[in-house]
Amino acid sequence: MTEPRAFIYSSRFSQFSYGLEHPFKGLRYRLAFELIEEYGLLSNPATRLIECPLADEEDLLSFHRPDYLAALKEFSGDATPRANFFYSLGDADNPIFPGVYEWSRLVCGGTLEAARQVVDQGCRVAFNMAGGWHHAHAARASGFSYLNDAVVAINALVRRGLRVAYVDIDAHHGDGVQEAFYSDPRVLTISLHETGDDFFPHTGYPDEMGRSEGLGFAVNVPFQRHADDRLFMLAFERIVAPLLSAYAPDVLVTQMGVDALRADPLARLELTTASIEFAARFFLNSGLPWIALGGGGYNKFNVARGWALLWGIIQGVELPEGLPDHFMETLAALGFTHRRLRDQPHRAQDDDFCRARRALERSFAVLEKNLFPLHGMG
Ligand SMILES: [Zn+2]
Repeated sequence: MTEPRAFIYSSRFSQFSYGLEHPFKGLRYRLAFELIEEYGLLSNPATRLIECPLADEEDLLSFHRPDYLAALKEFSGDATPRANFFYSLGDADNPIFPGVYEWSRLVCGGTLEAARQVVDQGCRVAFNMAGGWHHAHAARASGFSYLNDAVVAINALVRRGLRVAYVDIDAHHGDGVQEAFYSDPRVLTISLHETGDDFFPHTGYPDEMGRSEGLGFAVNVPFQRHADDRLFMLAFERIVAPLLSAYAPDVLVTQMGVDALRADPLARLELTTASIEFAARFFLNSGLPWIALGGGGYNKFNVARGWALLWGIIQGVELPEGLPDHFMETLAALGFTHRRLRDQPHRAQDDDFCRARRALERSFAVLEKNLFPLHGMG
């Protein structure tokens, strides 16, 4: 392996707290880091371990509105709890906690640095596990996301004249990123997610395809609940692979949320770690310069396993099935009894699978009929 891989990290990732009742736990980052480190995946000479920087406000302004940033900044340093529902700040999903602005700037700084490593510093891949806050809007927090690191970094890439493909495999629709580039043909957004029928953020249907010059450059593949690895991989074969080849981007940005795994408490998909490995190999084998971001994942053990597997593939290392001893001790202290890195193979029940497959075929048909021709396909 000649081209380096950048791993962006800060021990500060796990030091911010959304509150005890909130499903997002910063500890996931420390667990993922420990597992990756104990597998020896950070000592490879091709690894660049980079301390995550804070983003400059100027970078944030490429997407976020100044009044929103000012409110976030003001609330962040205030000891008394504050809320502004116009910006969705201070509600149950998007609590205000000490340092929330710093946390959000850190997230964006990491994704900007990942982009810089790939575009300017000769890295083949860069991974910011603290990135992937795909629900944040220009002047509104949403879905635990305050600032949209992917949009801010993609804006920097587009300013350089690069064409970007963004692929999002989180269980939730990547609505904030889609919206930011909905009229822009310089960015192709593809989101694979659980259907919004009764699931946050209630968007992400195949007929959302972009508008004006951006028509055809927003792609949505919703899955019915219980969709499993077979349907996830089928969606790559039928939609993601052909569209990426037709679009031929200069850079790939992916949101690698792991909340579509079976044991996640928020989503109802039934993927296993085989899907995470499949997606990681697919993105690596595309040969594109690749900026990988974290994302959702509300089972801490799944987060650690999913992103260790991802980073192993990025490094070209086949990880053993057993977990490192010290990591098992850490897990045991947290009450987890798992011993294996990968999930056992799993298939959804036949009737659930057939229902989910029929719905997915309907979505494929819409995309093949209405969107593929816009790319000279079909
Ligand atoms: Zn999610």
